[in-house]
Amino acid sequence: MTVHASNSDALLRAQTAATTRLMVMEGLLDYSGHVAVRAPGRDAFFIQSAIEPRSDVSPDSMLLVGFDGAVIEGEGRPPFEIPIHIEIFKARPDVEAIVHCHMELAIWFTMMEGVQLVPMRARAIRWRSGIPMDMDPSHIKTTQQGQTLARTLGPHHAALMRAHGMVLTAESLPALLVDAVHFDENARAQMQVMQAGKTPLPLTDAELEQIDRHEMRPFHVDKLWSYYVCKGVKQNAIPGDWDI
Ligand SMILES: [Zn+2]
Repeated sequence: MTVHASNSDALLRAQTAATTRLMVMEGLLDYSGHVAVRAPGRDAFFIQSAIEPRSDVSPDSMLLVGFDGAVIEGEGRPPFEIPIHIEIFKARPDVEAIVHCHMELAIWFTMMEGVQLVPMRARAIRWRSGIPMDMDPSHIKTTQQGQTLARTLGPHHAALMRAHGMVLTAESLPALLVDAVHFDENARAQMQVMQAGKTPLPLTDAELEQIDRHEMRPFHVDKLWSYYVCKGVKQNAIPGDWDI
């Protein structure tokens, strides 16, 4: 259950299915939202079909979809919001994996006047550069909407979507899962401080520098991926024989 060095299609299909199911297990994904991973060497990516329950996706049910939106491999139609993935993959060569989800906590931060979601907890250093917000509250179904979202995201690793959801980007699917867990933790921390009637004290630049000096992201991602895969197998969220 360690992260393999190979980025074969089979591994990416299995990791996409596992990441999706584990995000459901953790309450980060529900009946909607989707995880995508870039197909190595092609203008294409793996993503689930529009209708399949997120809790039931499998390596074989993943679609391979081109940057033109056409299905290259697999049965069924891709999610309606694939312009999100297409336009971010096109704009950001450094991004290998994307999740679009409707995380409640993230949405709440798009509905409060004068409140900015900021790094509160150490792992939120990932979003030190900022968490911009896309102001289009509708579903992202067109190329133009996708391009606007990608421009809003810019060089950052997360963007909120007004009254709708969010996107996260990462260098791998295991890293994406870990980031989603920490994004939720951080938003919850800030919300609970505010619900306690207190003023949030975000990490200062000096504190973020200190955290950055000790950052061991690859180790941390491996450790948490192993934890969530083991937990997922024990809770029957994923089969124990997937090669992930
Ligand atoms: Zn959506």
